[in-house]
Amino acid sequence: STVAEETFDVVVVGAGPGGSTAAALVAKQGHRVLLLEKEVFPRYQIGESLLPATVHGICGLLGVTEEVERAGFTPKMGGTFRWGTDPDPWSFFFSASPHLAGPTSSAFQVERMKFDHILLKNAARLGVEVREGCTVGNVIEEGGRVTGVRYTDSFGQEHGVRAEYVVDASGNKSRIHTGCGSERVYSDFFRNVAIFGYFNGGKRLPSSPGNIFCEAFEHGWVWYIPLSASLTSVGVVVNQESASAVQGDREQALLSLLDQAPGVRDLLAEAERVTEGVYGRIRVRKDYSYLNTRFWGDGMVLVGDAACFVDPVFSSGVHLATYSALLAARSINTVLAGDIDEERCFTEFESRYRREYGLFYEFLMAFYNLHVDERSYYWKAKQVTQATDSELEAFVHLVGGVASLDRAYGDRQSMRRQITGTARELEKLVETNHGQSAEDENLPLFQSPFMGKVMEQQVQVQAAALMGGDEDEEPLFPNGLIASMDGLRWAHP
Ligand code: FAD
Repeated sequence: STVAEETFDVVVVGAGPGGSTAAALVAKQGHRVLLLEKEVFPRYQIGESLLPATVHGICGLLGVTEEVERAGFTPKMGGTFRWGTDPDPWSFFFSASPHLAGPTSSAFQVERMKFDHILLKNAARLGVEVREGCTVGNVIEEGGRVTGVRYTDSFGQEHGVRAEYVVDASGNKSRIHTGCGSERVYSDFFRNVAIFGYFNGGKRLPSSPGNIFCEAFEHGWVWYIPLSASLTSVGVVVNQESASAVQGDREQALLSLLDQAPGVRDLLAEAERVTEGVYGRIRVRKDYSYLNTRFWGDGMVLVGDAACFVDPVFSSGVHLATYSALLAARSINTVLAGDIDEERCFTEFESRYRREYGLFYEFLMAFYNLHVDERSYYWKAKQVTQATDSELEAFVHLVGGVASLDRAYGDRQSMRRQITGTARELEKLVETNHGQSAEDENLPLFQSPFMGKVMEQQVQVQAAALMGGDEDEEPLFPNGLIASMDGLRWAHP
């Protein structure tokens, strides 16, 4: 039986980083928000390597920067790659020097059980009604518009809730994403399988102990993420052709794949696999690269993995989830305030979200392509950085998650210092390591018309930032909107 229906302004389904962010940023504007989560937190999730955009931009907006800093997560200054033909690992840092870049030059490697719980408790603190152990089964539709959801609580009791907007943030297992007339389209290109577990006692990279380490090998690549002084998250991503290597006994499969990656093998030489508790399981994930045909419909919007995911390399998942949550919250807040109409607000949401997704998609495709072609991505990236400043900046923006240089990413002064810092670092690497490179090499990604367009926009946005005041923010698209001064709504330029 269904108990009497309740009414909220907004119902958010799923309390991962996407859901907690969206719920909190709508509640901050005084709206009544219900957040429904199937599990009881803390709960396990993969996706432990974060980008500066999330840690400084989103966490800043949410007001959890200090709490996240106090949680004891591993500071991540950048990434170290052993990839392509270069036998030596390559590192990039979010900043050349802390002096130049200030506090926004780093991110964190996080245990998602802890990080996601911080965001959820924060949402509750900001006034969101949080209900855990509540599984949403379907959306309620009336006259072609989504007007609520039905859910089952932990006692098996069914409930109906009405709302002006339903936000689907229920991740890759979403049951309701089709509610906005949307279909999931799986990538033809990214068809990888991941197998992962946890180790105690793995070594740390001597010069950059907090960096994520990624090592390519014959069947794919390995991630090595230092979660604490002793605990390391280790996973192997294999391509479809090697997917059979992941079948059968999982422990055997994982260990034998890791044995084929010499860098990781060395780091794990004295380590022991965790075999108990939540980190004791070896997990497998596949079919995780997809894009929904629509990100919103009347009364409903998709954020995070409910809408799309590319691939684990370069850690874009939590960034895309929280960034899309911000864009969705802005749209909802603007419509509920009666400022700008729904179509315009959500078109802005979808355009910006697709653009950010597209950026990572194209970038990562080239990254894998170069690997398949046995050419070093690093070499290619450095060739690219020699071309023009804007291409270099595009690279740095991208891997920091600040490609859009959104107002939410806060203090533009320090963000600018960060970008300049990393740009200098990369320039230095180009000069010292490889000198002049062949100019006529084929650069499939960075010379594509797509990237040209993206970089043009970035230069434009950055130019606006450099001129000083936020009032100068230019819309990203013709006829587009800009963020309000507090970052929580859309405004006319
Ligand atoms: P989730 O974190 O999945 O949260 C969704 C929530 O919804 C869950 O808590 C779930 O319990 C709840 N839910 C589901 N169904 C219902 C329902 N019916 N009713 C109510 N609640 C429901 N990202 C990174 O940033 N860095 C990385 O290093 C990284 N590594 C990855 C490695 C692999 C192998 C994979 C597959 C992904 C990786 N990701 C990484 C991506 C990352 O895991 C996701 O992008 C991120 O967790 C998405 O956040 P979200 O809030 O959209 O969804």
